[in-house]
Amino acid sequence: MAAERGVPGALVILPEKTARFVGRDAQHMNILAAKTVAEVVRTTLGPKGMDKMLVDSMGDVTITNDGATILKEIDVEHPAAKMMVEISKTQDNEVGDGTTTTVVLAGELLKKAEELLEKDIHTTTIVEGFRMAAEKAIEVLNKIAVPISREDREKLKLVALTALSGKGVTEVERLAELCVEAILQVTEERDGKLKAVVDHVKVDKRIGGSALDTRLVKGIVLDKEVVHPGMPKRIEKAKIALLNCALEVKQTETKAKIRISSPEQIKAFLDEEQQILKDMVEQIKKVGANVVICQKGIDDIAQHFLAKAGILAVRRVKESDMEKLSRATGGKIVTSIKELTPADLGEAQLVEERKVAGEKMVFIEGCKNPKSVSILVRGGAEHIVDEAERGIHDALCVLSVALEEGKVLGGGGAPEIEISKTLRDYAETVGGKEALAVQAFADAMEVIPKTLAENAGLDPVDILTQLKAEHSKPKSEFIGLDAVSGKILNTLDLGIIEPLKVKAQAVKSASEAAEMILRIDDVIAAGKLEKEEKEKEKTPSTEEF
Ligand code: ADP
Ligand code: MG
Repeated sequence: MAAERGVPGALVILPEKTARFVGRDAQHMNILAAKTVAEVVRTTLGPKGMDKMLVDSMGDVTITNDGATILKEIDVEHPAAKMMVEISKTQDNEVGDGTTTTVVLAGELLKKAEELLEKDIHTTTIVEGFRMAAEKAIEVLNKIAVPISREDREKLKLVALTALSGKGVTEVERLAELCVEAILQVTEERDGKLKAVVDHVKVDKRIGGSALDTRLVKGIVLDKEVVHPGMPKRIEKAKIALLNCALEVKQTETKAKIRISSPEQIKAFLDEEQQILKDMVEQIKKVGANVVICQKGIDDIAQHFLAKAGILAVRRVKESDMEKLSRATGGKIVTSIKELTPADLGEAQLVEERKVAGEKMVFIEGCKNPKSVSILVRGGAEHIVDEAERGIHDALCVLSVALEEGKVLGGGGAPEIEISKTLRDYAETVGGKEALAVQAFADAMEVIPKTLAENAGLDPVDILTQLKAEHSKPKSEFIGLDAVSGKILNTLDLGIIEPLKVKAQAVKSASEAAEMILRIDDVIAAGKLEKEEKEKEKTPSTEEF
């Protein structure tokens, strides 16, 4: 099939080890690779999906049900397989959920496309048909979506629960509630539109305790300790100075020699340094701060003065945490102590250093109407905490998307069946061979309910037949499969709810990926470097040094 080299008389334009695949071979190979990736994640789809245990080259184990995580961890080599990994990443970055759906859908679209290719339908026709179908599919989703607002707390909780279901996360009810509370707390209205930024919720994890100990802090939790043992460990009614400057005496930039000829002069010199630090602390005290949170260092002597003044201080806090602290406490980050005014101070009911699982953390909590909050995730084992953290991230993402767009859908395969039904009718109005591609797109959409049924141990053919029959009746757009009970019912009423954007983005990304892979009819791959050559390139031999 492939390599076109070494043919006598042929014009050699590619290096010897280059592999080349053209036309149908290239398409076939790429489709196979993409389908294989889809096959890997397929069994994890839905609430009854299985988990995967991944072991990396260092021997670290990840147990997960999350499509994007699986694909991030496995090391794929084939370029088309890499594209599938890419689309799952894009989906994850854009909307934070629906990664498995995207990949499974793309795999199925390619499978159907391959059948059309075998019937000698040209790639261009297929691609055109897929495009028309994808556009129509998005129309359908927009039409059937229902509104959701920040007042619909119960519904929002169901959106979070749907994202968390099947993730192997324990105490889902509680987590869903925490996520809703967290996201609503940081949601702001700008120009009549809601803005819910997931990053404004800080998620920290600590192994130990149980999932029940996971909690929401109306403020920020810092993975830090109070800097000096003489400082208070607990301050109520905290007035917090947020500093972006060091509490140190600056080193001179140029080297200067100071001639000191008597002990008095040494003392005078040191006294002066002390005085500067003392003045800094005086200033902090004067504006009324009893807590200092510093992005930079705090000198030992400054620590001593702060301790004497009864001020609690934390140093070397990350910039991102400083910003969150500012949003949470209402304080302003100040770059010079001289500029610090009482108005710059943040407020919190309590700042306290506590031991969590043997390690010290500083809690800044009870903030009044904080615009940034923290969730501290607890659990008995590393993989439990990790999976909970990923689940929380997914839940926060879907909540943010649902709030910002204000539209949701019932899940459990219902929207896919509705799309499929509409596309079949649409195909009849589309002339030419594109109609076959639209038809194929309609068939491909069924892979989602089919897989949900399969993963729940139900008969997929039976479920599909029932679903299709139901969808031919009026007001049936959200009739789907409840994978938990195995029943066919209105999933929106039942509380299997997903944001419109997650599904719309999944359909878009899947069809774009399928199109991109189909369009390739020539793969020219440079030969792999021999192992030795590679090593030589990477590590220059020691003699060279
Ligand atoms: P993804 O990575 O695509 O989000 P998930 O494993 O989270 O994959 O599965 C999402 C799919 O599971 C969605 O189609 C959603 O509607 C469906 N789903 C969620 N809960 C249920 C349920 N109880 N019954 C049936 N389907 C469900
Ligand atoms: Mg999901």
